[in-house]
Amino acid sequence: MSEAPRDFIRQIIHDDLESGKHDEIVTRFPPEPNGYLHIGHVMSICLNFGVAVETRGRTFLRYDDTNPHKEEQEYVDAIEQDVHWLGFDWGERLTHASDYFEQLYEAAEKLIEMGLAYVDSLSAEEIRAHRGTLTEPGTDSPYRERRVEENLDLFRRMRAGEFADGEHVLRAKIDMASPNMNLRDPALYRIRHIDHQRTGDAWCIYPMYDFAHTLSDAFEHITHSLCTLEFEDHRPLYDWFLDQLKPPHRPRQIEFSRLNLAYTITSKRKLGMMIDSGVVSGWNDPRMPTIAGMRRRGYPAVALRDFVKRGGVTKKDKLIEMGVLENSVREVLGDEAERRMAVLKPLKVVLTNYPEDQFEMMEAMNHPNRPELGTREVPFSNEVWIEQDDFMEEAPRKFFRLKPGGEVRLRSAYIIRCDEVIKDDDGNVVELRCSYDPDTRSGTGTSDRKVKGTIHWVSAAHAVPATVRLYDRLFTVPNPNAAEVFMDVLNPDSLETVEAMLEPSLADLAAGEAVQFERLGYFTPDAGDDSADARVFNRIVTLRDSWAKIEKQAMQGQD
Ligand code: ATP
Ligand code: MG
Repeated sequence: MSEAPRDFIRQIIHDDLESGKHDEIVTRFPPEPNGYLHIGHVMSICLNFGVAVETRGRTFLRYDDTNPHKEEQEYVDAIEQDVHWLGFDWGERLTHASDYFEQLYEAAEKLIEMGLAYVDSLSAEEIRAHRGTLTEPGTDSPYRERRVEENLDLFRRMRAGEFADGEHVLRAKIDMASPNMNLRDPALYRIRHIDHQRTGDAWCIYPMYDFAHTLSDAFEHITHSLCTLEFEDHRPLYDWFLDQLKPPHRPRQIEFSRLNLAYTITSKRKLGMMIDSGVVSGWNDPRMPTIAGMRRRGYPAVALRDFVKRGGVTKKDKLIEMGVLENSVREVLGDEAERRMAVLKPLKVVLTNYPEDQFEMMEAMNHPNRPELGTREVPFSNEVWIEQDDFMEEAPRKFFRLKPGGEVRLRSAYIIRCDEVIKDDDGNVVELRCSYDPDTRSGTGTSDRKVKGTIHWVSAAHAVPATVRLYDRLFTVPNPNAAEVFMDVLNPDSLETVEAMLEPSLADLAAGEAVQFERLGYFTPDAGDDSADARVFNRIVTLRDSWAKIEKQAMQGQD
């Protein structure tokens, strides 16, 4: 293994290899295909696939498809796409809990034959009533002492479809007085006359998650079964299954704390509710913390991997700031994304001393720190769009952008002066009349005059109009999971749409390619809604401190 900081799980794995307990590490990522994967799953994927990559081991992608009621092919396809996109590969090791339905059934019969499982004919409600509470023991079902032959016969008839849903369940016979509720004769199989997305109508009884999960891990020779902390209390049950059934291989379960991200939700069920109620457009809405949503938003896969690496693997509950994720995204894009100019809230500037119907090409750097990325040409003409925010009629002394009588540099172009402010009847500023100084052409001008402000712009005659979607936090509180009704703390302003003007070189940018709009943030065409004749862009993330930095540079007299 590399010298990368070792978390407690990687330490255990390292020790198991050193001691010769295992020659090869085998892990699995076991999603239930009942929704799209989210940022929490990214952590689990990076951990399970990561430790295998680091130790030249193997990882299974195994669908936990034991509950046909909630599972769909759409989710299966999305999961595969998402894991691949994150940069991991399961090779031949794509499996399903349902691949083992026959073996699981045999294991259940074995438990019956050993006198360790029985068919219970109480109703679900009665079973619940017999379960007891955390402070009181449960009570035995009147069917608990059924003979082995009777249990076997009933279980086979359950499989044969002779009974209706809920008429019987198969339960493990452990201890109704156990302080651990999971050991109070948990259900192993229940009857569900429902088609399964893989096995069709072959089965009308389905194994419960705990039973199927433990044995699937054993069947696949998983060495380290890594799961989140809520399964710690289930471990004694897993151990019981393994102790009784003695499969040839015994996995070791290790629990770690879930990754929780502030101002968002990591629960497929709740994300699904948001889709159903229409507050987001779908699983891949760019505001969603799903992998599909983050990909569409423009987050690079490497940034997500970097983010979970920073979070580490621990046993402590944590709520990670959204800013940490955004910083990972910024770091990758700051390096990779080329710079472009775009105006999100356009205000028209007419250069009264620049010839109409004339234009010239300005040379602009594609990346300030990477000269190898070269330059591009940006057309300049007598009408340009600037950002409404870059003009202030009654500006404070320290406002170095455009104000009446003031000067500013148009990045990579000329210094202009604001001569006149045109307003509509309501007093809103609708146009600025300015003059440009021909001697101040960026790079080649004869004047070395400096001004304190530099702003971005787009030539009106050449601009590409685009709808730009600006995203903000989905929720108004850091921990919406803790809210009584999580839908009540949704941020009504999580999406703002503006009609923007882009420099013409952006006309051909494809979805998946990110650029920095200078001074504004990182943006990418929206994979869902962008089209050649109606451009739609997403803001991936803002530039933190963008203003401070550019203003500082301008103060030092740089352009
Ligand atoms: P959800 O509540 O969103 O449905 P889940 O845990 O039920 O999550 P699964 O599809 O069963 O989702 O999870 C697959 C794997 O991902 C499991 O091993 C699970 O422990 C892990 N996982 C799920 N959520 C997180 C999270 N927030 N942090 C880390 N691992 C997670
Ligand atoms: Mg689950």
